[in-house]
Amino acid sequence: MKEVYVPPPKTKPAPTASTSATPSTPQVRAARKPLPVVRTERDRRVCGHEDDFKILDGEKLEYGTRRREKWRKKLCVSCVAERTRIEMSAAAERRKERQGAFRLPDGAEFSACYDGVAAQWTGTLRVGETAFKDTCRGVLRLCNELGRAWRKSTKAEETPRA
Ligand SMILES: [Zn+2]
Repeated sequence: MKEVYVPPPKTKPAPTASTSATPSTPQVRAARKPLPVVRTERDRRVCGHEDDFKILDGEKLEYGTRRREKWRKKLCVSCVAERTRIEMSAAAERRKERQGAFRLPDGAEFSACYDGVAAQWTGTLRVGETAFKDTCRGVLRLCNELGRAWRKSTKAEETPRA
């Protein structure tokens, strides 16, 4: 059984003569023009919101029904936008976290000692009266972790930044 509603085909690199021994006969299918939209119907998406479902001119009922079933399983436009917004802000938050967007206070002091047997660094970050200790395989990682530990300890006192 064939479907009338076909998503645009992915462009494949044209086969070169050197790679194929037998000349390929390309299955040239006439590119179907999208059927014109006659009207739209308000219908409910999976998220529970109503959206405009397009009724296509000359589409067989069977295909239209199937297309509508697929359409219903998708989120509405505003829910997609909202999901994208949430994902992007979460990604930005992760980026910020990775970049360690903070500065240690004046006078902060690192000390680190390498254990060749255990192949790891043990270090301390002193900020005023407070010392943070940690152990890591890499010295940079160690400094980052210690900095983050300090950061965590100060976060409660700080007013959140936008
Ligand atoms: Zn929605």
